[in-house]
Amino acid sequence: MIFSRAVSFVNARVVAEAGIAESVRFGARVLAIGDRPRRGDTVVDLEGAVVLPGLVNAHDHLELNHYGRLKFRDRYQNASEWNQDMEPRLSRDKAIAAARTHPLTERLFIGALKNLLAGVTMVAHHNPFYPELRRTIPIRVLRRYGWAHSFYLERRPAGAYGEHGGDVAGRWRATPPDLPFFVHLAEGVDVEARSELPRLEALGCVASNTAIVHGVAIDGDEWPRVARHGAGLVWCPASNVFLFGQTAAVRQALDGDGASRPTIALATDSRLTGSRDLLDELRAARAAARVTPDELLRMVTCDAAALLRQPRAGRTTVGAPADLVVIPPVGETPAAALVGARRKDVGLVTVEGRPLVGDPSFAAVFGARRVTARRVTVDAVAKLMDSALVRRIAGCPIAEPGVALA
Ligand SMILES: [Zn+2]
Repeated sequence: MIFSRAVSFVNARVVAEAGIAESVRFGARVLAIGDRPRRGDTVVDLEGAVVLPGLVNAHDHLELNHYGRLKFRDRYQNASEWNQDMEPRLSRDKAIAAARTHPLTERLFIGALKNLLAGVTMVAHHNPFYPELRRTIPIRVLRRYGWAHSFYLERRPAGAYGEHGGDVAGRWRATPPDLPFFVHLAEGVDVEARSELPRLEALGCVASNTAIVHGVAIDGDEWPRVARHGAGLVWCPASNVFLFGQTAAVRQALDGDGASRPTIALATDSRLTGSRDLLDELRAARAAARVTPDELLRMVTCDAAALLRQPRAGRTTVGAPADLVVIPPVGETPAAALVGARRKDVGLVTVEGRPLVGDPSFAAVFGARRVTARRVTVDAVAKLMDSALVRRIAGCPIAEPGVALA
């Protein structure tokens, strides 16, 4: 029997809970941080590269990532108008109708692949946790959560099988308080959008497990109120700017102190309106609001994990699953390196210590973890990929732009 070996990354900048460390040892779990390699380890010199916890994408619709970006007016006032524009086209527009005929498993897979290639190892899918998500999805998808689509789709189709968006208050009440509850809220710039936070408060649904998705119409001076309830924001600036030409008052929200600052996670939403992936979203966020790289790093790691109630995600600690992402040493700080990275730059992504995609220079890690690697290209850059994942991509009827198998 052939055992897998532990891996030691040395000469690295490991972003760990206790600060930056020079090394990390891992098998399926993180074994040590800042320690020397042990005998038998596969040692890889990272030459200063940054090791982050696998990124957390707090909001996506995994089955909606292969249509391309769609809108039918230059600017919308409310997401409900965009939905009204979309609805008749779902059957009438030939390209959209054709893209909808792919099996849900395949559509979900492409959404998961989008996330993986950008270093995301955990995603919150907005819609039911479909049984299809248990199959052949290479990353972690949040399993326990409550959700409603929005006030405007309460009694209209929202899910992949035409499920209704759900009664917001009823769904919130049905969600145990220790699980996150996600709802699209205040997604627009009109009076209707501005009315939604007070409406949700009046229903008693703004609480410590409430994750407000978008919040574009929430006033800067309303954020302390949201924060005092313990609720947080899932911020999707690229989608907001695409639809409305503006985004949530995130700088004002972050400038609150202590209990009046809400927890904020950055997220992509789907490619129907959002950015290509979470790395591109980081740059969209920088362009949309005065946020610092360090603030953004927290929004895709520990703060996102806090909103998702996933204490083992978004941080690198001994004993936690080795969900890691390696980013080249560009920029003065790890956060700056992350904000500058595109998916072709991602050095390596592991889930539970299993390398899934990475630079050829990490071949020894695939060997150590007993993962057969095959060569692929991502945005014209040579990568190694888990051969099981390559087979899955080869068998998928939907192509991911930029990914070429040898
Ligand atoms: Zn959404």
